[in-house]
Amino acid sequence: MHVHIFWDALSPAGLQMPVSRTISSILGVPTTVSENHVRMMGYNVARHQIDAAALLDSIQTYKHRHDIEGPVLLVVNQDLFKPGSDSVFGLARHHVGVAVVSAARLNNEYYNLRSNDDDLIDRLAKEGAHEVGHLLGLDHCENPECIMFRPDTLDELDRKKKVLCPVCAATFAGSGTTP
Ligand SMILES: [Zn+2]
Ligand SMILES: [Zn+2]
Repeated sequence: MHVHIFWDALSPAGLQMPVSRTISSILGVPTTVSENHVRMMGYNVARHQIDAAALLDSIQTYKHRHDIEGPVLLVVNQDLFKPGSDSVFGLARHHVGVAVVSAARLNNEYYNLRSNDDDLIDRLAKEGAHEVGHLLGLDHCENPECIMFRPDTLDELDRKKKVLCPVCAATFAGSGTTP
């Protein structure tokens, strides 16, 4: 079992390998990264955002059609929303093993701060590992430093460490989903 990371053409170039490696080290599972061939469904013209649930449908279709076994994480650059939320950093659909994360609100420029690739790599890896954690059976965690903590803001995301807390690590190790 390994995690398939699909990197959309519009996503920040050159960060694929460090993000993939960091997700692998956070979760202790192998990852591969390749260019994205999933159709970008769910664009909402009025909102200038993509409906994350519609995009998950598209990933699910692709995963099924190509007989992909392991979890799939798509990395996009477009801003995402889901019904009931103005925006989401990412979304996962556990029972079918598909997830998406967006770089749109993870880069410093969005907050009028100076661009920094290391910050963006860290945030994409944390968000990516969080969504993949769901695909591997983990729920949300109350520990604000844990990868499985659900951040509402960029500060909360930055406060998280690039590790599972001992409780989540024990749950994961006991779940039998490790390779
Ligand atoms: Zn979550
Ligand atoms: Zn935890």
